[in-house]
Parts: sequence; structure tokens; C-alpha cells
Amino acid sequence: MSWKTLDNQQKTAARVLRHAVQRHELAHAYLLEGPEGTGKRQAALLLAQTLFCKEPRDGEPCGNCRNCRRIASGNHPDVIRVRPEEDAATIKKEQIAYLMKEFSYRSVESARKVFILENAEKMTVQAENSLLKFIEEPHPGTLALLITDHIHQLLDTIISRCQVLTFVPLSDQAVEERLFQEHQPRSLVKPAVALTHDYKAAAALCRDEWFAEARSQVIQLMQRLHLSSEAALPLIYEKFTPNFDNVQRMAIGLDLLLFWYRDILSLHLNRPEAVIFEDQTETLREQLFRFSQEQAVRAMSLILDARRQLDAHVNSLSVMEWLVIKLGGIL
Ligand SMILES: [Zn+2]
Repeated sequence: MSWKTLDNQQKTAARVLRHAVQRHELAHAYLLEGPEGTGKRQAALLLAQTLFCKEPRDGEPCGNCRNCRRIASGNHPDVIRVRPEEDAATIKKEQIAYLMKEFSYRSVESARKVFILENAEKMTVQAENSLLKFIEEPHPGTLALLITDHIHQLLDTIISRCQVLTFVPLSDQAVEERLFQEHQPRSLVKPAVALTHDYKAAAALCRDEWFAEARSQVIQLMQRLHLSSEAALPLIYEKFTPNFDNVQRMAIGLDLLLFWYRDILSLHLNRPEAVIFEDQTETLREQLFRFSQEQAVRAMSLILDARRQLDAHVNSLSVMEWLVIKLGGIL
């Protein structure tokens, strides 16, 4: 994570922290709060690297010097990270005691010490009370970075002693970029983000084998449907309905069908960057010749009708039969 990226994703938090660093006016304690997947932990590490980097460039930590690398791997003696121990539900008083002991020593290599407390809401009440004393009487040069997805589970007294930085949900584009960086397949990232608009949910879909299969079945269905309803119907009976075996899955299937026609529309409107089925662009372009904008809009409205039928508890096989016959009729 760089300040440039953070500034793109979390403008307010990035500016507050960066100005404070530049003016040497960092508070003693910050609470980084907001939904999962919004870059809070990365921002805390970025701040720590900025404070310790030996070769910063234009205010950005290099990411490569000994200090940057040790911070990234959790091995810097003056940057201490605390989180619930493996599989433990809570951060215990002993972990905070350890932290305070570390901080009572002079910093090992510089005048500064940073601690990063992840999942801060998982502190036991005793741990919170120990921490409270610590942030009420900070040692000079210490910086506390608390991170939480659930600010309301923290004691008010903790919150009021920290400067709170709220991290907002990422834009679709930022979620996509993050998933690309995590090496999720591009062909799954685009539809997963378009379906969920949420990092955590999209990441779960990308890791779900069912979703990859669902996507490829939708593509097969669209290829058959482009021939005729008769060509597509066997696929509905044999594969599609058995695989989309509950209402949530069928809803995802219908949304993917919707994206297909929306992609055709996007290509008609000369907006290739909006296409979800990117790797199918060639097939989509072939279908453009037989599909006008009006037909694409008509298909989308039929799919929305099917969604409503599904919501009204109509049997999903009947919904799909109806839809495939109607979609075939548009051609
Ligand atoms: Zn560095």
C-alpha cells in the first residue's frame, strides 16, 4: 500500500494521517474503524513504514529497506503487532500486559515505538481496562494504532481517547484492484464485484468453485440460446437448474444472465470498459450483429421479470423454462 493508493481509496483517513506525519503532529492513539476489507491494516503498516523507512521517496516509504521489510513481516522490534492468538476469540489481558512491558523499555533502535492492535473489539474487558491506562498516560514517542471492524463493541472510554479514522467501503473499482492484487482470476473478479459491490463477499465468490462453474454455465447457456430456445432448453434441465439449486444461487444465475445482455448493450454504446464478461468480448461482439439495443433492453426486462417470479416463490425450473422461451423469442 502506498499513500497514493490510500488517498484514492480512503481520502479522509489518508489526508489526516499524512498531514500529521508531515507536521510532526501525530496523535498518541488512532482508532482505524470501518468494514472489513477497507484497507485499515494496510494503512497502519504504511504509517509505520513511513515513520521508520530509511530511504523514503516523496514521502512514500520505499518498501524495500530493512525497516520496511521487517515491518511488513512483523519483525521490527519497535513496531509491535497484537491480535487474537490463533483461533482465540479474544485479546487477553496478558497480551496487553506484554505490550505494556515492551513499551516500558526504551525503543530499541529509534526514539519511537508503534503498536498495532488488530481486531481491537476482541479485547476482553480486563484487556481494555489495561489498555486504557496505557493510552491515558502515553510514553513519549509512542503511537497506538487500534484497528476494528466493529467500533460499537469497544468501550466508549477507549474510543474517546483515540482519534477515530473511519474507513469507508471501497468503490467497485478499488475492490476489483484489490482482488487483482490478490491474484484472483480477472474473469471471476468482474462479475463477483458487480454482484456484491463488497470486498469480503466478492472475495468469497472468487474463491468458490461453484461460482466459477456457474459463470461458465451461463456462458454456455448464452451460446446455445443464441442459436434457439430449443437448443438451450436441454441445458436448463440437465445442468443449469440442478446447479443453481437454491433461490440465492438462482438469483446469482439470473444476475449473470442480466450482465450478459448489459454487456451487449455496453458494446452497442461503445463502452467496452463496462463489460463484465471481458474474456467473452469476441462472442459478445458476434452477437451484436443479431441483437439491437432495443432487443438487449427487452431481454434485460424479461430477466428482471424472472427475478420477480423467483422472489414470488415460483418454482425455479418453471421460471427458467419461461425465460429461455421468451429470450429465444426475441431473436
Ligand atoms: Zn523503506
